[in-house]
Amino acid sequence: MSIRLQALEKVQGNGKGVYTKEQKKISEIFGKNVFTLSKMQEYLPSSAFEAILRAYRTGEVINIEVAETVAKGMKKWAMDFGATHYTHWFQPLTNITAEKHDAFYKPAYSADAQGIESLSARDLVQREPDASSFPSGGLRNTAEARGYTIWDPTSPAFVVELESGKTLYVPAIFISYTGESLDYKAPLLKSIEAVNRAVTPVAQLFNADVRSVFATLGWEQEYFVIDEHLYEARPDLAMVNRTLFGILPSKGQEKADHYFGSIPERVQRFMHDFEEEALRLGIPVLTRHNEVAPAQYECAPMFEELNTAVDHNLLLMDLMHRIAKRHKLKALLHEKPFAGINGSGKHNNWSLATDTGINLLSPGKEPAKNLRFLTFFVNIVRAVDRYSDLMRASVASSGNDHRMGANEAPPAIISVFTGSLMEQILMDLKDNGFNYGKDFTAPTLELNVPKIPEVLLDNTDRNRTSPFPFTGNKFEYRAVGASHNCSFAMTVLNTAVADQFSTFHQDVQTLMQQGQEQEKAIVSTLQEYLKASERIIFNGDGYAAEWEEEAARRGLANIKSTPYALDAFLSDKSKHLFSKHLVLNERELEARVNAFLDYFVKDIEMEVVSYQEIIATHILPAAINYLNKLVSAAKGLKELELEESASGIRQLAKEVAEAVEKANAGLHTMHHAKELAEQETDLIARAKRFQDEVRPTFVTLREAADTLEALIDDAEWRLPHFRELLFMR
Ligand code: ADP
Ligand code: MG
Repeated sequence: MSIRLQALEKVQGNGKGVYTKEQKKISEIFGKNVFTLSKMQEYLPSSAFEAILRAYRTGEVINIEVAETVAKGMKKWAMDFGATHYTHWFQPLTNITAEKHDAFYKPAYSADAQGIESLSARDLVQREPDASSFPSGGLRNTAEARGYTIWDPTSPAFVVELESGKTLYVPAIFISYTGESLDYKAPLLKSIEAVNRAVTPVAQLFNADVRSVFATLGWEQEYFVIDEHLYEARPDLAMVNRTLFGILPSKGQEKADHYFGSIPERVQRFMHDFEEEALRLGIPVLTRHNEVAPAQYECAPMFEELNTAVDHNLLLMDLMHRIAKRHKLKALLHEKPFAGINGSGKHNNWSLATDTGINLLSPGKEPAKNLRFLTFFVNIVRAVDRYSDLMRASVASSGNDHRMGANEAPPAIISVFTGSLMEQILMDLKDNGFNYGKDFTAPTLELNVPKIPEVLLDNTDRNRTSPFPFTGNKFEYRAVGASHNCSFAMTVLNTAVADQFSTFHQDVQTLMQQGQEQEKAIVSTLQEYLKASERIIFNGDGYAAEWEEEAARRGLANIKSTPYALDAFLSDKSKHLFSKHLVLNERELEARVNAFLDYFVKDIEMEVVSYQEIIATHILPAAINYLNKLVSAAKGLKELELEESASGIRQLAKEVAEAVEKANAGLHTMHHAKELAEQETDLIARAKRFQDEVRPTFVTLREAADTLEALIDDAEWRLPHFRELLFMR
């Protein structure tokens, strides 16, 4: 029996009797496993507690004596919780987190004495993992192969509780011996500080009591869930996280009957379990629903301060994989696991907030009369316009290439959706200035839905096709891929925004020094920005072919693949931006691009290997077996002197044989293209050849395989069909 049929047999009865804890009130479990501020207060002397608060609020460095005290308290808390081990938890350039556990236990020097459990300041602050096998983009040559992880006191430590034991996790950055960033977290923290430096003075123009400004993030994680046995019977999913073959079932997503439909029981049990773990870890996951494609779902938390939100997203992705196992399910976080149906993104809802509790993108009742809101809105539009190429590059990956520009998810053209009311307000501001008496009436009144804020309702006419829509009181960066560490997209956005706000502050100061009043200086600066950046605003259908033409006329880039998108990071403009705001120096930036390109090439190389293996060992053998059956049937008919009735069989055999031929020739072409691309020594050129010459060869292979899937005896076919993967409950 083929692995597919075995897998299908195992699916029956799956999901029954799985591990599900009894339902608890969220308020009882939330944050239970986190070393929260209130637990710190309990376990730390007040001086240490206050030092942590200062680190959190002003970035003040924690000295070694304080770290010693914190380490003691943290260890005590973790051990009270039952933890035996601890680990630095960090974010190498791989999209997943890394950890290396050490026991608290330190043996005694003499054999008869008992050791002790301890955590020293050094243990807490700095670890030295074996760094040599993480991608560094060339920052670590063999002579300086060391890397350090260093405690990030601004993201809380937590205890992960598995059936196999409890471990204290300490969020950390990852740097090289020479101090360069090797991870996603360090540049994110630097960009958060850049935002604070540049935006606070602007916020103070409106509210003098503001002391600091920080970014907020509420991500929405899309994912697919399929049966584990079926997953294992698909070597493509196991090797490259997406299906390389497969024909669409007759029942796809056309009827839109899955979206927001009732969640299948088995999946809901899984959600319940991973959400419970997430809530214990302080991740405020509150929303779950079916997504557009069959077997696709979404999970979203309440937004948080950006650094914590990113940590929480990574932790959740990890939890999803672990907990799915308990339910014999598999969570797929790839951007496009199934061609032809919706892919998965990670929408990043992003805003700016002050320490005094103001959401700087909150429009209030009358956005047209709210100069603070308009200032923040216009500057962000301007930032996106100035740095749209970097934003595009920040979400580039081989997986996301399948989403962007594929008439689904946002297009590869970066633009801002403002909603029609905001567009009117902005254009009026540009042409006529601020607050001269004109009233803007939102469509709310006509709809007669009381209590719903005007701009919000206007924007519920959501534009699903925009990569960067304004959604009422925040922007939603929709282009980020489901599998990404969204840290990088956020780092780039923050840096662009920081740069824009520092420019704005200077521009306003210059006008004021020339004798203009503050309000006038602000308004005329915003008017200039709107004139310069109007082109980035687009409220139409981002999937329409006309938009591609229109965008080209406006001079907006439309770069559909990773190696070309990444070029933007190597421009002088980009190097200047990241070094000016102390986020990434030139060497770090170049190294990062190298790491991304290398990752891209490896993805495509892995796909080559998978195409070869699956076609040669699964698809062709099935086709040949079937061909044999047809041949012997035709022969049999001939023996019975019924040749004239064998024409259908002959035709089938011909089609199968032709597809076999096509697949074989396709493999040959693919290998040839790969060999040529690999001869390219320059990494950028190599990646581009993989894009231009290797990737296109996959099309023929897929066509040949899909033809065979449609022709061959179902009992012979070895890979679970899409309909089995997507509709098995
Ligand atoms: P959608 O309609 O786009 O699916 P959801 O309700 O699923 O919207 O998600 C909206 C997300 O935006 C939530 O995570 C929410 O917490 C987040 N959000 C709301 N306000 C802000 C804000 N000021 N900053 C960042 N994120 C926010
Ligand atoms: Mg959503």
